[in-house]
Amino acid sequence: MDIVHLLPDHVANQIAAGEVIQRPASCLKELVENSLDAGATNIQVIVRDAGRTLLQVIDNGKGMSQTDARMAFERHATSKISRVDDLFSLRTMGFRGEALASICAVAQVELTTRREEDEVGVLLEIDGSEVITQEPCACPVGTNLKVKNLFYNVPVRRKFLKTDQTELRNLLTEFYHIVLVYPKVQFTFVHNDEVLLDLPVSSEKQRIEAIFGRNNARQFTSNLIDLHTDTDLVSIRGFVSKPEASSKTSQQYFFVNGRYMRHPYFHKAILTAYSGMLPGDYTPSYFIYFDISPEAIDVNIHPTKTEIKFADEQTIFQILLASVREALGKFSLAPTIDFDREGEIEMPTLSAGSSRMPNGPGLPHIQVDPTYNPFRPKSSTPSGWSTLYPDRPTATMPSAEQAPLFEEQNIPTGVPYQYAERYILLPTREGLMIINQHRAHICVEYHALLRQLQEHTGLSQQLLFQEVIELTPDEIACMETIEDDLRAIGFALDRFSKTAYGISGVPAQLQQGDAVMLVRDILHAVMETDANVAQKWQEQIALAMARNIAIPYGKTLSQDEMQDLCDRLMALKNYARTPDGKRVVTLLSDNDLP
Ligand code: ADP
Ligand code: MG
Repeated sequence: MDIVHLLPDHVANQIAAGEVIQRPASCLKELVENSLDAGATNIQVIVRDAGRTLLQVIDNGKGMSQTDARMAFERHATSKISRVDDLFSLRTMGFRGEALASICAVAQVELTTRREEDEVGVLLEIDGSEVITQEPCACPVGTNLKVKNLFYNVPVRRKFLKTDQTELRNLLTEFYHIVLVYPKVQFTFVHNDEVLLDLPVSSEKQRIEAIFGRNNARQFTSNLIDLHTDTDLVSIRGFVSKPEASSKTSQQYFFVNGRYMRHPYFHKAILTAYSGMLPGDYTPSYFIYFDISPEAIDVNIHPTKTEIKFADEQTIFQILLASVREALGKFSLAPTIDFDREGEIEMPTLSAGSSRMPNGPGLPHIQVDPTYNPFRPKSSTPSGWSTLYPDRPTATMPSAEQAPLFEEQNIPTGVPYQYAERYILLPTREGLMIINQHRAHICVEYHALLRQLQEHTGLSQQLLFQEVIELTPDEIACMETIEDDLRAIGFALDRFSKTAYGISGVPAQLQQGDAVMLVRDILHAVMETDANVAQKWQEQIALAMARNIAIPYGKTLSQDEMQDLCDRLMALKNYARTPDGKRVVTLLSDNDLP
């Protein structure tokens, strides 16, 4: 008996869907792109339960005829290309004709659509690739597509969806990628009946402000410099942030011919233009729009991939670099000082006042607070806490990471000595240990914080005045995921409004500094890693927090402080590197010495 046969369409579609529609966000992208391709000027996105139960896109585009509406759900059905050559002059977002076929294979789809020239529209209901209903209906010009119960027939996929907060964040990220390039199109985004974004027709800059502006008390876009370069090969427009407005939580976007892309190589060009202007792990924000002949890029990439190949990347790298440099230069912000002593100097952050650089580029001025003591005196409470709140019960510090776990060779044989206000030199049995003070303290605090997170033992210090942090929708989604953890380490948080939280207390270890900045740093650390299990995001929280409270470089340490830091460090199981892999300790064995 012959055993080779063709797969039925619905099976083939479901397989294809595995590639094209991985999560609600990819579904949203396909639908909104279709609306844009249909010339819509108003697009409404309505979502329920982060897209699990409903993802609806309503547009005022050109709509479809009865026959087209039916055809659109067939595999490889597209109105956008018909010949191979068309691929090389593509100006639409879609062209594969796979999206709708894939979506209807893994969801229940309801479509109403009407063209201007038709008196009645059509209603189409499709359930797992099977047409249930097709009938005329009265509806406005345009297309209204509901995707219900995504992956209802693919339990494995459904199981792999992350928490609603994470999926909502993914939806918003995908949405930002699109709305940032189409400021002339009006968009709204509604989640569980709440309008998260309402974006009127505007300029590019206003669109950026409408999305990210809530982040800052000052206008976000007032910190952006315009940039514009035209060459035969490519036209580059956009905005880059003033160096002094850069931060650890920057917004970085490349677009090519109206499509979002990731491009690590071009990212490097931008960083190169800023080199010497930004301290440590600060990066600039940028929104760069490339316009290039479609022939010079490879569009025939995988639908879910955001990397795009350019024919002449090196030349574009140079043009981009020059363009950003020129823009920065125009604002007489030319690089003056080389920060790159080690290539990776970290800025002291919150402990030395604001971690933004108020005075523009310059050497990091390290303010030392002479009373600042990050080390709890042995057998006492964390620094300063007991004196601040004498009535409160004494806290027990986490002890596991301080169990005497000295490895034989690390037993200190002499007293620590501070070198260059940066390193602690510690003689041990094995040789001379050189310990980076800032990183060592990160390690120590990190483990203590992780424990507090798990045991809810963080101590809080009340703020004199409540601070309010305004958040963007994706930040809110992240906040809802991690707010209990923030409370566990000592933040006192209250939901203030739909878009804001009030901060009335901070972890006791935080001596001074900007609570709002710290919370934002933490949120972005969690968002960037896309952490979706508590353990993972708690690690991010602990690390971001540890970075902020760790003693800075340039701080003179007393003998006791050094001793205490060395003891706590050496008691950790793993102290050679920080949790993010930076080297903490170098050992010079006697053999290394002349
Ligand atoms: P592609 O976008 O690659 O052509 P899709 O499966 O996404 O493939 O869509 C198939 C076809 O359905 C499109 O080519 C277009 O003609 C039609 N279509 C889809 N969505 C819309 C819409 N919102 N308005 C008008 N036509 C649409
Ligand atoms: Mg499409």
